[in-house]
Amino acid sequence: MRLVTFLYNGRQAVGIADEVLSQVSPLPTEFAPDMLSLIANYDQLKSGLAGAAGAPLPIASVELLAPIPRPSRNVFCVGKNYHEHAKEFAGSGFDSSAKEIVPEAPVIFTKPSSTVIGPGASIPNYLDPTDSTDYEGELTVIIGRGGRGIKKQDALAHVFGYTIINDVTARTLQHKHRQWFIGKGIDGFCPMGPAILTADEMPDPTKMRLTTSVNGERRQDASVADLIFDIPTLIETLSAGITLEAGDVIATGTPAGVGLGFKPPRFLKKGDVVTIEVSGIGKLENPVG
Ligand code: MG
Repeated sequence: MRLVTFLYNGRQAVGIADEVLSQVSPLPTEFAPDMLSLIANYDQLKSGLAGAAGAPLPIASVELLAPIPRPSRNVFCVGKNYHEHAKEFAGSGFDSSAKEIVPEAPVIFTKPSSTVIGPGASIPNYLDPTDSTDYEGELTVIIGRGGRGIKKQDALAHVFGYTIINDVTARTLQHKHRQWFIGKGIDGFCPMGPAILTADEMPDPTKMRLTTSVNGERRQDASVADLIFDIPTLIETLSAGITLEAGDVIATGTPAGVGLGFKPPRFLKKGDVVTIEVSGIGKLENPVG
């Protein structure tokens, strides 16, 4: 099932989208007032979802929002989690973190929930005074059943579904401030969507493939199987001491092909369009500026 959040006639609703995201069937507000509530109550609701959904609307008649427009806490993110990207970052001159190229343990940081914007919304690169705004296409996990001390072998049972984020980054700020929060925490620097693909439709997430294009030119193309630290390892690592909650968002890291990997770097400029596609989920497309 593909779940979306959208605006229709000025009201926000959650709905079930078809496979090609051409139509959305709204869920009644009393059934699912928002995506976070649907995720928290999914075990009780899921058998009745399809029956509760209203008549389908053309997607073109609604405004898609991020599936979780305002996560209840920061978006968890993973740095340097694909080998080729770890190399391009280490060689770029923008890496002020530890000097080993491939990390010994997952590198975790967060983006404030206020960074999240929806599909089609503009990435505000004018808020980056250093004019070094870069894209990072990432497969993203949405936690369903929370918990602490989740073991690798149980981890996928805690996944509600998968979406896409663009971990937009002001590279010069990322480098200057050492910690990545300022360079990655700018308002609007976390496009998310277009849908959440529920985990029952993707029992093996390593089968997914991620591609990113800028103005139609392919920049990133990788299999999720190439993650250095796989999804169960990330969930085990994060939940060791932090209780994960329903609706938590974990971006799994970006593959090679970001703008800083080019010589000279190819940063985003006003008018560019970034399109990230993950098989099964759909396309997250955002203009810049
Ligand atoms: Mg990233």
